[in-house]
Amino acid sequence: MRATELARSLFDLLLPRGCVACGGWIPDARASSLVCDRCRSRMPRAPWPRCPRCHHPLGTGRRSEETCRECTAWPKALRSARYAYVLGAPADDLVHALKYEGWRELADEMGRAMADVLLPADARSAALAVPVPTTAARLRRRGYNQAELLARSMARALDLPLVTVLERTRGGSTQVALHPSQRRANVKGAFAVRRGLAPRLRGAHVLLVDDVLTTGSTAGAAATELARAGASGVTLVTFARALPRYRTSSV
Ligand SMILES: [Zn+2]
Ligand SMILES: [Zn+2]
Repeated sequence: MRATELARSLFDLLLPRGCVACGGWIPDARASSLVCDRCRSRMPRAPWPRCPRCHHPLGTGRRSEETCRECTAWPKALRSARYAYVLGAPADDLVHALKYEGWRELADEMGRAMADVLLPADARSAALAVPVPTTAARLRRRGYNQAELLARSMARALDLPLVTVLERTRGGSTQVALHPSQRRANVKGAFAVRRGLAPRLRGAHVLLVDDVLTTGSTAGAAATELARAGASGVTLVTFARALPRYRTSSV
């Protein structure tokens, strides 16, 4: 058990657990949940109309058939993207708690929310769910890949097999401070299909799973690799999408 998890377990013994997002009290009857009803009802959704391919909001007065600037640079293999919430409070608290604070149990609830997202027609017959792999260094540090935990929960809810088809072939430094074109260069060739698993992909539509969609460059690189190994198409499903202009509240 890692030190942070041990500390948290001790903490749980001493104090009743509050909501992961606001710290508020959760009544006993709902003790299995990590998020309070108020926070759950405040999860920010993206406004309509949205781009049919990537679901980025198009802004009022625009029609859904107009071209979206957000996904034009995506490779063809990444057919579409869907996300449950906008990366704003309190959804961002959940993302942070799962990724950096060791709240792996949160993935159950977050993955179920992702399974409820309405998929485009070609993705409804998806054959498998594939998590975006993290780097070996991050896996060692964190002890788990949050995308894989989300994919497992989502796949269970959708009754789909989860297959860890992809591996990270090189590190790829953090993407946070990079310009979109730099992000693409940073992750280009960063993924490979694991030995022996290409047959699982042949002719299959894949649901690629990650926690957050930012520019789509990571998903684009992963989708390109999946298509190269024979996947017929890829739909990215994430828990949240970073939409700076549509933030509903400050962090
Ligand atoms: Zn709360
Ligand atoms: Zn788009």
